[in-house]
Amino acid sequence: NSSFCVYQIRQHFPILDQMINEHPLIYLDNAATTQKPQAMVDAIAAYYLRDNANVHRGSHHLSLRATAAFEGVRETVKTFINAKNTKEIIWTKGTTEGINLLANVLSKGLKAGDEVIISALEHHANIVPWQMLVESLGIVLKIIPLTLQQDLDLKSYQKLLSAKTKIVSVTHISNALGVINPIKEIIKLAHQVGAQVIIDGAQAVGHLIVDVKDLDCDYYVFSGHKLFSPTGVGVLYGKQHLLEALPPWQGGGEMIKTVSFEKSTFNQLPFKFEAGTPNIAGIIGMGAAIDFIRVFNRQDLIDHEQSLLTFTEKALLELPAITVFYEGGVKSGALSFAVKGEHPSDIAMLLDAQGIAVRSGMHCAMPLMAELNCKGTVRVSFSIYNTHEEAERFIEALKKILEMLE
Ligand code: PMP
Repeated sequence: NSSFCVYQIRQHFPILDQMINEHPLIYLDNAATTQKPQAMVDAIAAYYLRDNANVHRGSHHLSLRATAAFEGVRETVKTFINAKNTKEIIWTKGTTEGINLLANVLSKGLKAGDEVIISALEHHANIVPWQMLVESLGIVLKIIPLTLQQDLDLKSYQKLLSAKTKIVSVTHISNALGVINPIKEIIKLAHQVGAQVIIDGAQAVGHLIVDVKDLDCDYYVFSGHKLFSPTGVGVLYGKQHLLEALPPWQGGGEMIKTVSFEKSTFNQLPFKFEAGTPNIAGIIGMGAAIDFIRVFNRQDLIDHEQSLLTFTEKALLELPAITVFYEGGVKSGALSFAVKGEHPSDIAMLLDAQGIAVRSGMHCAMPLMAELNCKGTVRVSFSIYNTHEEAERFIEALKKILEMLE
């Protein structure tokens, strides 16, 4: 029912064409990291083989070429998430660094007793940096609880909000359960009490059309590697006037305007937050990856992934001893389940024996697992190159495992 051909897409991802344990690889661990299109790998090779030089520095030809390619990606990302201008696009190492950067610089405006709200669905990357501020500054961390359906309880959220709330930092999509949070509503409510909002978009950028202007979030962070890009690069989006008002984070080259031993003055956005030589090749790779997916109609890709999720959830629910988390809820990217009486890692290992890569465990969300009263889940997560045939083969493999374990 969609106009794109998944088999054509797969041809751009050479890694998918291999055997694991004498079975064709079925890669269903996309929430951990996505596979990489040939065009992305080629762009990195071309940069190193033809254009390699440091950016923003030299007046020589290679440096100018490297800088043009590098800064061109800022334009690509700006358009991709619909930011206002490229000053709002800051390069980071990934989501974790983006949140740490924000926690660090925003902490300069916080004092003991100020409140930060996160949610029960957060990845450790959006918990621990705030806990560090509880320790160092005495801020108070509040948690939006789950409903019985295992999505966020917005009524409780509203009760948590007050004039003391300075920051709300929540994930767009839960990496553990695939829950899509109603972030537009969360952002609107936070703004009503004057709080700033950070969205952890690690899982969302690869699965949804992200429009930061429409969302009206103050900051949006994500990792390239979950968006068909290299590891070690990511994006921090921030509204320009907010970023202008913040102090820099790390000090060093690139982020300064003038330096003397008495005092330094800082560069303008976005460079103010980019100390040191960046991951030039990685950024250029990310540009190529985004260019690659922009060729497709994003909605077709989303519909395709959605049909894989819907099929898989329905099939899982027909199997004995399986519990699906956030059952029946509209999920994106990932789907978590438990098998009664079995450890998730045993199921994952038995699937791997049949060439199927899934993730098992806590998914860097130990507090969520404690809340759900489980020791971990098995998580399958789809991407644009997964086929219905693979989803069916996964279900068949799981059936065999369940019969064997009976
Ligand atoms: N938040 C979420 C929701 C994630 O899924 C991840 C990656 N699993 C992160 C944060 C951290 O991303 P990274 O390790 O790329 O910094």
